[in-house]
Amino acid sequence: MSDMPVLQRVLFSQEQLAHRVAELGREISADYKGKEPLFVGILRGCIMFYADLLRNVSIDCKMDFMCLSSYCGTSSTGEVRTMLDLRESIQGRHVVIVEDIVDTGLTLDYLMQNLKNRGAASIEICCLLDKPCNRKAQVHPKYVGFTVENEFVIGYGLDYNELYRNLPYIGVFKK
Ligand code: 5GP
Repeated sequence: MSDMPVLQRVLFSQEQLAHRVAELGREISADYKGKEPLFVGILRGCIMFYADLLRNVSIDCKMDFMCLSSYCGTSSTGEVRTMLDLRESIQGRHVVIVEDIVDTGLTLDYLMQNLKNRGAASIEICCLLDKPCNRKAQVHPKYVGFTVENEFVIGYGLDYNELYRNLPYIGVFKK
């Protein structure tokens, strides 16, 4: 199934990712027409998704990034730290958080609270992957690329101990 020894199998090919990401870009462009949304990418897992998504957004928009740390190895610690914050105020802005994967939801639960307190006009979540079976917090992404089972995935920005982010597709990690 895969020529990478660390992969159990490929879940989403480059073509599948490109197709779905383009759909999400079109959907968001239609929903946010005239609103000049701010896309907040959550580093570092979002990088590939963020770059490809934004290329498919056809309306005026702005970009910013945050870096949150909540993960160690293959299991969530539940502890969230802000390593890099936004450059500008989001008061009155329409914010779209761009995240690689929602697992327990603890990271985004923390982030939603944090950004709500800064007075955004609206906040929605756009995640490439949703792993709803592991949820510990009430987080509801509005835009979801694909729903996945309870498996640890790598590639297309997603890492295992900082490796494999550069794979152009997404696969299940072989432990
Ligand atoms: P949560 O707080 O929702 O449990 O975790 C969010 C973060 O954990 C994601 O942004 C991602 O960095 C990491 N994560 C969760 N599941 C996976 C996975 O299957 N593979 C990888 N590589 N990271 C994951």
